[in-house]
Amino acid sequence: MKPFSDKLLSWYAQHGRRGLPWQNERDPYKVWLSEIMLQQTQVSTVKERYLQFVNTFPHLEDLAKAQIDEVMSLWAGLGYYTRARNLHACAKVIQQEYQGKFPQDIISLSQLPGIGRSTAAAIAAFCFQQKNSILDANVKRLIGRIYAVEEDFKKAATNEYLWQIAHDLLPKDARNMPAYTQALMDYGATVCTPRNPKCSGCVFKKECLAFQQDKVEKIPNKVKKVSSKEVRSVMLCVLSGDQVLLNLRPPSGIWGGLWSFPESSWSDHLEIQDLQVQTLEEFQDLPLTILRNALPKGTLLASRKHVFTHRILYFQIVILRVKHIFEIDSTRYKWVNLSGMLELGLPTPVKQFMQDYVAANSSLLQSDVTHDVVSVR
Ligand code: SF4
Repeated sequence: MKPFSDKLLSWYAQHGRRGLPWQNERDPYKVWLSEIMLQQTQVSTVKERYLQFVNTFPHLEDLAKAQIDEVMSLWAGLGYYTRARNLHACAKVIQQEYQGKFPQDIISLSQLPGIGRSTAAAIAAFCFQQKNSILDANVKRLIGRIYAVEEDFKKAATNEYLWQIAHDLLPKDARNMPAYTQALMDYGATVCTPRNPKCSGCVFKKECLAFQQDKVEKIPNKVKKVSSKEVRSVMLCVLSGDQVLLNLRPPSGIWGGLWSFPESSWSDHLEIQDLQVQTLEEFQDLPLTILRNALPKGTLLASRKHVFTHRILYFQIVILRVKHIFEIDSTRYKWVNLSGMLELGLPTPVKQFMQDYVAANSSLLQSDVTHDVVSVR
């Protein structure tokens, strides 16, 4: 029987995906960029953003020299923002410690910020034709099904077993590593898909134990989904004329490192009617007397919902119009022009809110400071 790699390569030559902007790329910088972007993000979403990134930062040096705000802004909407911070940190390390050139050995690669074992293997395979297997979710599923691995893929021992199989399946000739690695990704994404895999036309159906034993749907073994927890918060959109107050979120956690509205802590029970003076007590960094005076009497709330992987956040944005800009810790807060705000890296729902607000209130933004209540629903 033909080895696994030969079958996969023949399939790839005929049916592999075409036209992805990072395909056939051998520049480690661009391969790395695409690999990081593709983690947990759809190809269709990444395509456009990848090109924007490469246009803005054509070389690793450009990314290393960029301000983190610029990077976060370009990343906004892709989610999993730690990736953007690591991208920037990694570019700096390579620039400073490796004279701007990616190391070629997989150990050094996997020690760089944000580069795990599978990404390191992809860079080494695509750019340096090294025989190291990738093991992303697509490859785990494909191998797991062919070998009928029914154990939880998240368990360390199962994972190690899958790595071992992936290594054993590598092609003999290292020159095939770029095509083989791309073929693995393509096969998992287009044939051995999570739902409704195309088993009838699959080149591995004879050796696929899951198919032979009618277990395809059971692999990967789905760990019971924990239902999403609902949480609530209040955000303050503090405006003075056309200036808005933004808060830099801590580097770790939800929307880490992005600029956003000051936000209360998340609560299980905060309701819309709770929006009283005491809610403002949460914002101890801000001048509470000024905010209390600006607290509206009428409706001034925009309710929003944002769904994260394990949580659903319901938040209300309260507009507080203050007479004068006040001074505040400039390491964590800044006043920005409303139109300039839209250029920053903002959480998607905050950006959407501001776009709606600016569109609905463009005349107000030009006027003098006012205490008028403006509904932005
Ligand atoms: S037969 Fe089906 S489950 Fe098995 S490798 Fe092919 S597509 Fe995947």
